[in-house]
Amino acid sequence: LDPEAIAGDSRAVLDFLADYYRDVDKYPVQPSDLKPGRLRDLIPSAAPEWGEPMEEVLDDVRQDILPGLTHWQSPRFFAYFPANASAAGLAGEMLSSGLNVVPFAWAASPAATELEGVVVDCMGALLGLPPRFLFSGGGGGVLHGSTCEAVVCTLVAARDRALSVLGHAAITRLVVYASDQTHATFQKGARIVGIPPPNFRVLPTSAASGYGLPAAAVRAAADRDAARGMVPLYLCATVGTTGLGAVDPVRELAGVARRHGMWLHVDAAYAGSAAICPEFRCHLDGAELADSVSMNPHKWLLTNMDCCCLWVASPSSLTDALSTDPEYLKNVAGAAANKTSAAAIDYKDWQLPLSRRFRAIKLWVVLRRYGAAGLRAHIRRHVTSAEWFEKAVAADERFEVVVQRKFSLVCFRLRPRFQGDGAVDENNRKILEAVNTSGRAFLTHFVVDGRFIIRLAIGGAKTELCHVRDVWELLQQKAADVLQQ
Ligand code: PLP
Repeated sequence: LDPEAIAGDSRAVLDFLADYYRDVDKYPVQPSDLKPGRLRDLIPSAAPEWGEPMEEVLDDVRQDILPGLTHWQSPRFFAYFPANASAAGLAGEMLSSGLNVVPFAWAASPAATELEGVVVDCMGALLGLPPRFLFSGGGGGVLHGSTCEAVVCTLVAARDRALSVLGHAAITRLVVYASDQTHATFQKGARIVGIPPPNFRVLPTSAASGYGLPAAAVRAAADRDAARGMVPLYLCATVGTTGLGAVDPVRELAGVARRHGMWLHVDAAYAGSAAICPEFRCHLDGAELADSVSMNPHKWLLTNMDCCCLWVASPSSLTDALSTDPEYLKNVAGAAANKTSAAAIDYKDWQLPLSRRFRAIKLWVVLRRYGAAGLRAHIRRHVTSAEWFEKAVAADERFEVVVQRKFSLVCFRLRPRFQGDGAVDENNRKILEAVNTSGRAFLTHFVVDGRFIIRLAIGGAKTELCHVRDVWELLQQKAADVLQQ
């Protein structure tokens, strides 16, 4: 950690990144040469015996690595959901990894722990969450790396709460509920905590419910399970599903969860960011009745990977399940701290690993550099572009919008017209492939009710309306080519 080396290497990297972001729009969004193993052929397979200058390392990044990347920060990246980066997020990330403290316990880094408490309260308030999720109101929050980790932690909390009453043997009777639109991470989480597929109910959604999870279906399934001696444990509601951007009726689901004493989690990984704008808060209606809520500022809130906020109404249910207290972590400062105080948290007891990153400083820098107004403008800019695109699709008789857009994700496809559905699926696949191999944009697909659809997820920090207009023009050209064949 020689100060001169830090300054020199960081300056070289920052210059490299400044050039990269100046030119990122010029790179093919996906690499044109997608041959697996390409990089192995280019770079030495053994570590060098002696250290090399940073300039040489960066030359290799430029020559060998950049051409093989999918450019997630390209303004023409519309795939999956965005993974936002910003100068503020990068600065925050530099502070986080530059200071490199490990705030697993209050005593291990008091100010880092306290900043995390302040930042999660701040974020919760920005989203309009009620005080019961904030430290100031008796709840609290933590920064994880991903929704997957957040969901596993809440599943463990719910499981152990139930088993402490029912006894460990009851684990085979625990049942969790989700919809066929819920992210696969939830199923993985349930498997990890010992609730495998036979006890994982995937309830169907349909166009009639806007692909939201009908509360009546959950109620019927949970009633049936309870009558058979099973234990309805946990219900995952999603606000902004990955495939279609659908919203589950959280308030109604909360009623069902309460009826069966289930833990209700609200996964707002992508769309939670929109709730900083009052006009989108309606989609979180009922979240105030949940046990936990999570969202990823690393998706759509200008915070570089990784950062997932998890709020719980009852921190003790998390810490009862996840606390450890080994001798080697004890020290005088820790013992002296008032553990019931929101300021003196041991965040190791809110997550899976012991070690953790100083994510709070990154999110804090983003909040300070943009302010709430700047972040709202970022969200609204993308929603406005999505509105434009949705209208353009609706106005072209060859295409149809498949589900009503709620945020910045537009799901659409070529209409069936005179072809069978099989042919139209094939044509949509061809259009998507032609757009992606052109290198001029990158979109991904979804399948709903057996139909292949194209997703345009708008949200890149550099994406403007002009890029959305361009991709629409490109889609139209490729559609004309495919239809002509
Ligand atoms: N939930 C939803 C609704 C998502 O869209 C995603 C990812 O796109 C996830 C969960 C998974 O998030 P993570 O990668 O943070 O685990």
